[in-house]
Amino acid sequence: MSYGAIFNGELVYKILFLVLFIPGVFVRGLYAYKIRPYVKRRSLRERLKFLFETEGYLGALLLLGQGVVLFVGLVIYLFYTSWYPWLQISLPSVIQWIGFVIGIPGLALLAWTHYTLDKYWSVAIEFREEHKLITDGPYKWIRHPMYTAHLIYFLSWALVTSNVLLLINYILTVVIIARRIPKEEKALIEKFGQKYILYMRKTGQLIPCVKLKLKDRE
Ligand code: SAH
Repeated sequence: MSYGAIFNGELVYKILFLVLFIPGVFVRGLYAYKIRPYVKRRSLRERLKFLFETEGYLGALLLLGQGVVLFVGLVIYLFYTSWYPWLQISLPSVIQWIGFVIGIPGLALLAWTHYTLDKYWSVAIEFREEHKLITDGPYKWIRHPMYTAHLIYFLSWALVTSNVLLLINYILTVVIIARRIPKEEKALIEKFGQKYILYMRKTGQLIPCVKLKLKDRE
């Protein structure tokens, strides 16, 4: 097999994808395990009820839809690509490589935010007992570095895999994050008051230096 065949082949992108995917699953799994003592134990039924109550119908359906699309997309991409060739978009290989390259800072940012936020991380918008406002690590410059990390990391997955379902996962992620941020900031203002408003003045939302005008709250 020539070098060209190796580097243009499907296998190389699967390997690149796994290089990004496995550490991400590890980081997420580690922190999901670490927060277990702080999370209220709920049955599946209670969890679904909580999800619909906190996110509303559209929010809950978007999150469930994203979970299903992501899971099915991953299984098909990793094990059944040849059964569903129409789910593969033919992207130029340079785009797939760019996807891999941007995935590395995305992954690093995800790990850094998990490390910094530690036990205060949660999937839903909720607060732990004696919840502290974190303003160090990546939170020094951005208020939602974990969402920035997801936006980069899931984009990189979509590009490396060139899979339609992982592209849909990315679009759903953008929509979910756009709906989530205002709700989360409202909850954080209610919780921390002036302290959070001051913090908002000093930080960007998803990108450093892109500051929000807070005229209506002054
Ligand atoms: N939006 C943040 C955090 C995502 S995890 C990010 O993208 O990095 C969601 C939880 O984080 C929410 O339930 C909220 O209670 C908590 N949270 C968000 N910002 C926080 C901060 N600066 N300090 C402490 N907790 C925070």
